[in-house]
Amino acid sequence: MVFFLLSEKEYFYAVLKKALILFTILFSLTHIGIAEIVNIGIYHNSKITSFVFHPEEGEYAVFTEKGKLLTLDKSELLELKYVNNKIYIKSIDKDYGSFKKVRFIGTAANNSFKVKPKNSKRIKIYEDNLFVNLHSYYNYFQLINNIEINNYVAGVVESEVGRSPPPEYFKLQAIICRTYALKNITRHQTEGFSLCDKVHCQAYNRKPKSELIKTAALETNNIVIVDSDINLIVATFYSNCGGETAKSEEVWKQRLYYLRTVKDTFCLHENNSVWTKKIPRSNWIKYLKTHHCSDDAIHHECGLEYFQQGREQHYMKDNVKIPFVKIRSDFKLKSAQFNVIPEDNFVRLEGKGFGHGVGLCQEGAMKMAKDGHSYINILHFYYSNVHMINLESLDFFKADY
Ligand SMILES: [Zn+2]
Ligand SMILES: [Zn+2]
Repeated sequence: MVFFLLSEKEYFYAVLKKALILFTILFSLTHIGIAEIVNIGIYHNSKITSFVFHPEEGEYAVFTEKGKLLTLDKSELLELKYVNNKIYIKSIDKDYGSFKKVRFIGTAANNSFKVKPKNSKRIKIYEDNLFVNLHSYYNYFQLINNIEINNYVAGVVESEVGRSPPPEYFKLQAIICRTYALKNITRHQTEGFSLCDKVHCQAYNRKPKSELIKTAALETNNIVIVDSDINLIVATFYSNCGGETAKSEEVWKQRLYYLRTVKDTFCLHENNSVWTKKIPRSNWIKYLKTHHCSDDAIHHECGLEYFQQGREQHYMKDNVKIPFVKIRSDFKLKSAQFNVIPEDNFVRLEGKGFGHGVGLCQEGAMKMAKDGHSYINILHFYYSNVHMINLESLDFFKADY
């Protein structure tokens, strides 16, 4: 409508500008891509050499490099063993032989399976498909869960936060986990899968039990968080910020405009808002000395007492300068925000928060959800100036122009 009020030249530039914006969006999207299925390295580094596969729901077709081997339903199970650099397969009453690779492909509408490694009492359940490879060097299996992304996201949400948070929080965590997964989709590419199941990527323990979490993953289908250049954000989170979140460059080298300091009062009375730890005085002094604090300085200048004013980056007294994140890592502290109080033969560290403090504070976000805030508001509270997009609708948008 507005174009009718413009001159021909203005109209031309307005169209050109619109075309440029569209081009920028479309170009940026090619960097994201829509992954509907992901490959997750399960039992990562667990060195499994023998396990039992048992369908829990649906039916499985079993393929090897030689073609289809058999179909399995819930009444059957297979044992797989690492023997002479091959995967040896047998059922209760039949030997199927040895193979180089095995694929369990679900053929019903919903498929899930149980895995019970030898010498483990714990059975784990996963959804969708399982790929079994021989680990080329270490003589054990590589297990890959080939899974629809929403099923994976729901599994991660339950593994990361449990089943007690309110439903609105599950939606938020689902969007964050999906964004994180797609952002890091090539992390284990050289090993033949996308992401591992450990905290190195995101904890993914098994098929979720909570229907609310599954619903949250489906209701937020395809929604991810992007920055102003329409690149997926680094969607970091942790347990509790202690009242103030950290800037990205305080913890890692990279400055990201959307990971800024936010004053957070929502988490102040939650489980992980404060902590204390005692360290023997002699250990603390020895530690300061290794960071160039002389004996004399400890007595006369450095002292042992330290009060952080807000989130400080360095423990800094005279000739001592140690990043708080380094002290946190060296003493395995819950956070890098703490005061140091000398007491007799030890120093007492009085700390706030739990985790690195960059991005979303989970306990604060859960409190906001309980107080009735929408997941959209919570997300914008912790990540500055980001956007939520639906990958599918943008794909439609791309096709339309
Ligand atoms: Zn990983
Ligand atoms: Zn917080």
